[in-house]
Amino acid sequence: MTIRNEDIEAIVKQVLINLKSSKQIKNEELGIFNDVNDAVNAAKESQRILRYMSIDQRERIINKIREKTIENAKLLAQMGVNETGMGRVDHKIIKHELVAKKTPGTEDIKTIAWSGDNGLTLVEMGPFGVIGAITPSTNPSETVICNSIGMIASGNTIVFNPHPGASKVSNYAVRLVNEASLEEGGPPNLAVSIDKPTIEMANILFKHPDISLLVATGGPGVVTACLSSGKRAIGAGAGNPPVVVDETADIKKAAKDIIDGATFDNNLPCIAEKEVIAVDEIADELIYYMIKNGAYKIEKDMVDKLTELVLEKKNGEYVISRNWVGRDAYKILKALGIDADESIRCIIFEANEEHPLVEEELMMPILGIVRASNVDDAIKIAIRLEHGNRHSAHMHSKNVDNLTRFGREIDTAIFVKNAPSYAALGFGGEGYCTFTIASRTGEGLTSAKTFTKIRRCVLADGFSIR
Ligand code: NAD
Repeated sequence: MTIRNEDIEAIVKQVLINLKSSKQIKNEELGIFNDVNDAVNAAKESQRILRYMSIDQRERIINKIREKTIENAKLLAQMGVNETGMGRVDHKIIKHELVAKKTPGTEDIKTIAWSGDNGLTLVEMGPFGVIGAITPSTNPSETVICNSIGMIASGNTIVFNPHPGASKVSNYAVRLVNEASLEEGGPPNLAVSIDKPTIEMANILFKHPDISLLVATGGPGVVTACLSSGKRAIGAGAGNPPVVVDETADIKKAAKDIIDGATFDNNLPCIAEKEVIAVDEIADELIYYMIKNGAYKIEKDMVDKLTELVLEKKNGEYVISRNWVGRDAYKILKALGIDADESIRCIIFEANEEHPLVEEELMMPILGIVRASNVDDAIKIAIRLEHGNRHSAHMHSKNVDNLTRFGREIDTAIFVKNAPSYAALGFGGEGYCTFTIASRTGEGLTSAKTFTKIRRCVLADGFSIR
């Protein structure tokens, strides 16, 4: 194999970096740039180095990222809540620990081989190169760490354009990734980001010739913009996950699981229960146990006031008021003039399926409960309320036929049965963790292998010793 001059230059640069002590690490080596083109150039250079590093070295860097994320979990959680005003510090600590421990690394990249009369053929998963990643305000540093582990494991470097409302905490996470790399003898700028990100900068990334893959984690606007770029793109978009409860469910457990899931980080995760569809026969019992588990039920007048508080009308369409996304339930109740204490985790109310608080993806600890006459009716309502996002849906039932039918018909990337929604992230459920769920483009729960190109390598008439 011949090594190109530009690759030799990059390797020499790396050797010089290794000679420096970590105390001498300069800020500009930690990945934060003012200009998006400079950021892409730096990520391109570091990708050349990453390409020649052993899998073992990649894995050591990833382990260091995991370590640093755990060490900084509390700080990142506090920074996230302070900067965005959204979510809960205790739950964000759990989210960071989860992402550090359960995001797959290089073990996710598998080789397939066929050998026989005609020799040996390998199918290997190789990097795209430099990935452009858009990250949300709802799980900001969690997504940066999650994407970094998966994308570096697969040999890519990353240019982040974080949400402008969460850029400080996102960029702090980017710095941690580069500190981890430098401390383990890797290059600077494995992940890079923009000091003051804007939508214009995201648009430059969408068109940049050195970006080979785009990954958008966010609402419908950014995912559509990304998918319209003409580049290969992975779209992790919005959801409005319904949870169905039928008459066969363990109602007491279902109530607790739903409140636990819907209040996790104040309902910011895209997978969290956003509305309940309960079969009429068990609806009263379900509500009773929800109240026992920290829910506060409001009636019609208050529901109208709540709608005015958390939704705004723009051009005839409802949009959520950012002032209340991810806020504590008791604070929302206070704004309605209801004096509730901090033990109140969730606001619940009964409504019909067309109610805007049920139709919209609120990302607030507010759950509308829609009564259905039977399970068939419940499934029909839930499918409509998911709005074809194909993102997440949940069900509490002991009837395997009902569970199977709902899972098939709603056709979502995630379907959690008889557990809180967060079981899908590997928290109280089996499987790995991700904060980028590619619902729109179908990759589902992304991991290192999602960010690879498949390559076939054929050696005819040799290396078969059978
Ligand atoms: P958002 O859509 O407001 O912002 C996401 C990012 O996109 C930001 O960086 C923003 O500046 C940028 N952006 C927005 N419109 C753009 C455009 N037209 N062109 C370029 N960039 C653009 O999202 P948010 O409020 O931070 O996150 C909440 C939304 O994201 C919810 O809808 C939630 O369901 C979804 N989400 C999905 C996943 C998933 O894995 N599927 C994960 C987290 C959040």
